[in-house]
Amino acid sequence: MKTVSTLLDPEWHERYKRISRLNIRSSIYDVTNRCNLRCKGCFFFSSDEHKKSPDEMDIAKWDAFVKREKERGVNLAILIGGEPTLYLDRIESFYKQLHTFCASNGLIKVPRERFPDMIVGISLWGDEEDEKTLRGKDTFSISRRNYDGDKYAYYLYTITPRQMGKIEHIIKKIRDIGLKVQMQILSNDENVDGFSWTTKELSDLRQEMDEVFEKYPDTVISSKYYHEVLTTGTMLNRKFGWMECPSVTRPLDKRSPQPKRLIEFIRWAADLKTMHRCCTSETRDCSTCKDGAAHMSWVMVNKRAHMQSAKDLKNWIEVYEMFAKLYQFIPW
Ligand code: SF4
Ligand code: SF4
Repeated sequence: MKTVSTLLDPEWHERYKRISRLNIRSSIYDVTNRCNLRCKGCFFFSSDEHKKSPDEMDIAKWDAFVKREKERGVNLAILIGGEPTLYLDRIESFYKQLHTFCASNGLIKVPRERFPDMIVGISLWGDEEDEKTLRGKDTFSISRRNYDGDKYAYYLYTITPRQMGKIEHIIKKIRDIGLKVQMQILSNDENVDGFSWTTKELSDLRQEMDEVFEKYPDTVISSKYYHEVLTTGTMLNRKFGWMECPSVTRPLDKRSPQPKRLIEFIRWAADLKTMHRCCTSETRDCSTCKDGAAHMSWVMVNKRAHMQSAKDLKNWIEVYEMFAKLYQFIPW
């Protein structure tokens, strides 16, 4: 029988042991229904999720809610929205009780005297031109000033089809201000003309992602297997989609048979009562979903399937390490 010990040499076995101790249990929280941008392709606004329920305004209720989440076993709070930095007191409810990651468009600087080591993932959609087209603003010129040299921030660089051949340019700009970067792929939820992927583009993209990862290992937090799974939507000959997705809200998950999934994962709305279907939006077509976190989690929950060979298991370890670095369970 193949076991971890028979598949791995001592060095890889140590790496395996380091991550297998982590037992990460995440959930996702919409901090608010408001945002200071309206990006074309934002899964939140394009699906009208912001209209489903109002924001809870009482901060004491946020404190009590986070306490309950902690008791439920959550050890990683992923804050999204809307734009979380519009409500720092709500962020603080999480930060003082749980290991917290905050996604942000970077237009408002998280005050480091209040949140010294909170991990901030700053969204960036393509280059200056793409950002103006899709987000109405070149956010990088603002976020780079806000987070220059910040040790606990990194860029969530969403690659668009127009970025082909230009990725290195962006990676260098991020490296030059001392930040790390994770690469994602645009899902184009609002079908903006010229921003949908062809199979050929995705194949070329995989190669380009591999190249920048090799060239900038201190800046790019990634793994080649992640690039493969994300660009092909395939893992071990299985196709990503609704019946495989690990990031579906537990109480709403009526799939049969149940796939491997994130334990007790829930995505909560900002009223602290409503649950959303998954880590992106209910209206997104799962067959075209390119969500990076869902693909990483897909690999992570399927450890057993990666125990057919040493190569598969190492791929699994690298994706797990990538995730653990991005949420600072292990150092960059
Ligand atoms: S910044 Fe984020 S939440 Fe706001 S509109 Fe853009 S994608 Fe949506
Ligand atoms: S849209 Fe994406 S994240 Fe949501 S259930 Fe479908 S595959 Fe999963």
